[in-house]
Amino acid sequence: MLYPMAVIVQKYGGSSVADVKKLQQVAERVMRTRQQGHDVVVVVSAMGDTTDELLGMAKQVSPNPARRELDMLLSAGERISMALLSMAIRELGGDAISFTGSQSGIITNDRHVDARIIEVRPFRVQDELARGKIVVIAGFQGVSYKKEVTTLGRGGSDTTAVAMAAALDAEFCEICSDVDGVYSADPRVVPAARRIATLSYEETQEMAEAGAKVLNAQAVEFAKEKGIAIYARATRGPLPGPDPSSDGTVVRKSPPRMPGTVVGVASEKDVLILDAEGPAADLLALLDERGVSGKQLHVYAGRTTLALSRENLHNEAQVREALTATLGSRVRLGDGLAAVSVVGAGINATYANVRAGSEVLSAVGATPSGISTSSFRITWMIPTNRTEDAVRALHGRFIEAEQPLLP
Ligand code: ASP
Ligand code: MG
Repeated sequence: MLYPMAVIVQKYGGSSVADVKKLQQVAERVMRTRQQGHDVVVVVSAMGDTTDELLGMAKQVSPNPARRELDMLLSAGERISMALLSMAIRELGGDAISFTGSQSGIITNDRHVDARIIEVRPFRVQDELARGKIVVIAGFQGVSYKKEVTTLGRGGSDTTAVAMAAALDAEFCEICSDVDGVYSADPRVVPAARRIATLSYEETQEMAEAGAKVLNAQAVEFAKEKGIAIYARATRGPLPGPDPSSDGTVVRKSPPRMPGTVVGVASEKDVLILDAEGPAADLLALLDERGVSGKQLHVYAGRTTLALSRENLHNEAQVREALTATLGSRVRLGDGLAAVSVVGAGINATYANVRAGSEVLSAVGATPSGISTSSFRITWMIPTNRTEDAVRALHGRFIEAEQPLLP
């Protein structure tokens, strides 16, 4: 074909493919997209709670399951949904073919359970598109240079979709789920939360890293690099019309906001704070050896602190043992803490937002034990059991009150 059609990548989350009926509805949506004249690549998550169930079984067999074996196990979830969706599309008269992450050319590093995509070689996908097929890809997985199956960390199907969209120079990437976009806070916690119409790549990345569940942080990197727009929208909603930003949330290069404006509040429960005396090198080497990635590293005056997210830490007991064996009493582990964050470009132009947030947190009994900032985010460490109240308080203060703090 001389003029190939525009490629659209659609990703469907676990709740959108939770059962056979929902898979069939997704198949219909894929067919409608195809009938609009697009080349369609579909990336699927595992059905419903499959990944959690598989992890649960692994934990019953072994308290510290080997990371390689976890990848063999967890990657099976997305294989099930990709094959079933492909069958469902074929049943509707579409010509679909399914591929695993490895078959679709997702090459990763070898950090099992939390691997990073280093390259996408989508040759087979392109060949099949050229043959007029709808390509269905198992999300959340890839293959390392050592030819080992890897997974991309929880929520990693987003990463597959956006990386694939970037590699295929797609028109755009749709992230379809049971929520119709990215909200200013989790609407189950904050009923007054609002859908955010437009987010910049940086804001989305910070929201994701701060614990918002709508888009995976690594996914955004790929979109940003290629300037690909990401549309987060409801699977049940309409197909994008001529103005695709009229529903859902669009993530794209955006003009700056009024400085000081908070766009969203996110939280992550159950983070682990490492606090160590002495050189950081030993501690960091130990974490790297075990494939554990931390965030918010601070090294100052002989102290190293960093936050570990428990989400992709499936062998915590082992890591704890190794830490005590190597560093002894030089390391302390802080438990029972949550990170609550506010996000917005330029929110730290002055300390006004930091001060205001700390004040409302203390007022609801969530006195922060730590604060860290970036140019897009303020994060407070608070007791885990105060998380919901803290999120509501920050949302009330910064978003419902609608008083952008001007520097
Ligand atoms: N099934 C995987 C998970 O639950 C990946 C994904 O849904 O994106 O984390
Ligand atoms: Mg997901």
